Amino acid sequence: MSWALALLRANWRVSWVGLNFPSPGLALRRRTPFRGPWLPRARMATVESKLLKNFASEKPVTHNKVSIVGTGSVGVACAISILLKGLSDELALVDINEEKLKGETMDLQHGSCFMKMPNITCSKDYLITANSNVVIITAGARQEKGETRLNLVQRNVAIFKLMISSIIQHSPRCKLIVVSNPVDVLTYVAWKLSSFPENRVIGSGCNLDTARFRFLIGQKLGIHSESCNGWVLGEHGDSSVPVWSGVNIAGVPLKTLNSDIGTDKDPEQWENIHKEVIASAYEIIKMKGYTNWGIGVSVADLTESILKNLKRTHPVSTIIKGLYGIDEEVFLSVPCVLGANGIADLIKIKLTSEEEARLKKSATTLWEIQKDLKL
Ligand code: NAD
Repeated sequence: MSWALALLRANWRVSWVGLNFPSPGLALRRRTPFRGPWLPRARMATVESKLLKNFASEKPVTHNKVSIVGTGSVGVACAISILLKGLSDELALVDINEEKLKGETMDLQHGSCFMKMPNITCSKDYLITANSNVVIITAGARQEKGETRLNLVQRNVAIFKLMISSIIQHSPRCKLIVVSNPVDVLTYVAWKLSSFPENRVIGSGCNLDTARFRFLIGQKLGIHSESCNGWVLGEHGDSSVPVWSGVNIAGVPLKTLNSDIGTDKDPEQWENIHKEVIASAYEIIKMKGYTNWGIGVSVADLTESILKNLKRTHPVSTIIKGLYGIDEEVFLSVPCVLGANGIADLIKIKLTSEEEARLKKSATTLWEIQKDLKL
């Protein structure tokens, strides 16, 4: 019978950390202590039974459940950012790599003393994500050194087919935040595969590019990035468009102080900031192999706007057909108002003719890839 005892002990070890394989459930639940098969369970008075008188027998109702698909470097950075902000009352994690999934979940759970959100669950089975308010997709093939985001697309479309159908089966009312690259194309793919209304499919898009842009402007001026207002729009990455016409500090447009800002004629070469924004992901990947912290905190910021219905504006990827002379079904970043329904409104930002032309060029580049996709 030693195999039976070994099996019982193994099961006990898994439930001890609150992990849940293969069937899902809450992580923060009372564990039945391991007593051995020879002791009658009903008669044994435990510390738990002496300490607690159970009042609520119903299962708790979760209101702000967030799920993250993909517990790689980006998924985990999103998870810790959401946990530290105390945004949700349940966080469910999914990954195909079961060992990594268990390891990351245990590691996060062990920080629960210091976080206000105790229910961290995980499973390979998407049932664990049931009734999520927001599902964040970070799963996919990772961008290799020197590989453009657009090269990643075909590898990730295959992954998305299975993933999206499983997510929507269990959370038909959720808001999807797509982070996996190439994010604008994959947001389009998620929208097509899910048949969700456009307000509920959001690409993290230029949210990170804009954060990098503001940080670098802040560095140049010695002002906190939060006070540097400026937007990077269009495609996340190589063909993104910095809207220099709108960059301002405390309402003072920098263009009124330097009419050549952002152009080749500018003696101060402010355009180098945008070049740095584009290069920064490649540079970080060259140095540490991946990027994760910037994207993690920026995705938590989007999640916060949705869960708290904040109606803040964020540069996220949405369907842009019909705007700026773009006729194709492409997803590009424009300032969007995020609230409980996802994208509540889109801000019709006024662009210069050059900025508009660059946005159109991004749209054409993306459509060239999308039109050949087999979904
Ligand atoms: P990673 O390789 O560390 O993690 C990817 C995870 O996805 C892995 O744990 C893998 O097991 C999992 N996975 C793969 N296929 C899966 C499937 N079918 N179902 C469930 N899980 C699956 O990669 P990463 O560094 O975390 O990056 C994740 C994605 O985020 C990449 O596409 C990357 O390019 C993208 N990214 C986007 C931004 C942005 O601004 N949008 C920034 C950084 C990274």
